[in-house]
Amino acid sequence: AKQSVSTERYALYSTSCSNQPLMMRMFNDLNKTIANNEFFLMYQPKYSISGGQMSGAEALIRWRHPQMGVLSPDRFIPIVEEFGMMSTVGRWIVHEACSQIRRWSDNGIICQVSINLSAIQFQLENIVDIIKEEIEEADIRPALLGLEITESMAMDIDKSMNTLTRLYQLGVTISIDDFGTGYSSLNYLKRLPIHELKIDRSFINDIEADDGDKAIVTAIVALAHNLRLKVVAEGVETVGQLNELKRIGCDEAQGYYFHKPQLPEDLASQFRMEP
Ligand code: C2E
Ligand code: CA
Ligand code: CA
Ligand code: CA
Repeated sequence: AKQSVSTERYALYSTSCSNQPLMMRMFNDLNKTIANNEFFLMYQPKYSISGGQMSGAEALIRWRHPQMGVLSPDRFIPIVEEFGMMSTVGRWIVHEACSQIRRWSDNGIICQVSINLSAIQFQLENIVDIIKEEIEEADIRPALLGLEITESMAMDIDKSMNTLTRLYQLGVTISIDDFGTGYSSLNYLKRLPIHELKIDRSFINDIEADDGDKAIVTAIVALAHNLRLKVVAEGVETVGQLNELKRIGCDEAQGYYFHKPQLPEDLASQFRMEP
């Protein structure tokens, strides 16, 4: 499996290089790219481990490129950032996620949706205003919108504390993404106004066999609970991993074992089957 992943990466890398002009052409007219609905969000549900019910969904951006097909965010978000277009694309993401929460609400479905904020987007001077405006325009409960920021973004405390505090006061749900991969000061973690830690999937992969990973996840769950934070395990692919997380007392889980990211209409049919 490792072999095929690296081959695929190499293939993607070389494709994206040889098609760089093609990508550039699209970026030259970003407004058109957005107006043509080339960006879209897929939704990956997460579940309560003890109760089994769905607790929300994470929005993951895709780009339906006219020539190159559907591109994953790892391929184009870095370019979006590099070319100074993250505030435009980021605003589209916030707008689209809030609109989806509204559309589901109109159909009687209450679903929390989390979006991923890039470092550049999180550092925008007006990021709190943007999020507030989009929540008001969609007329949704702020807590239904979740924001995922990475550990390294959060731990840059001088830059992050003010923004996090204002977002927390706004009432949105705040998660630290990829937790465990960055440099974390426990002293800072204690002070951060956040709701949730998402344990990086690198600790979940081998959780059944690797005593080190087991110990780390156990410690993160205990720490989070002592700080009154919820803990989500990402990248859960097997029932064995899920059982181990249940034994440890992790609150929620997300991963291919349950569902891959899906189109909103496919997710909505599941709510109705399992309300
Ligand atoms: P992330 O936030 O850590 O998202 C989880 C990634 O792991 C997603 O890839 C998801 O499809 C994948 N995944 C979920 N469950 C499993 C599993 O069980 N096994 C495996 N192997 N993978 C799983 P995706 O959608 O390609 O996104 C990659 C990264 O791109 C995300 O990592 C996030 O950092 C970034 N990203 C995605 N959407 C956005 C967005 O709207 N804005 C920004 N700024 N970044 C985004
Ligand atoms: Ca995430
Ligand atoms: Ca993550
Ligand atoms: Ca990640």
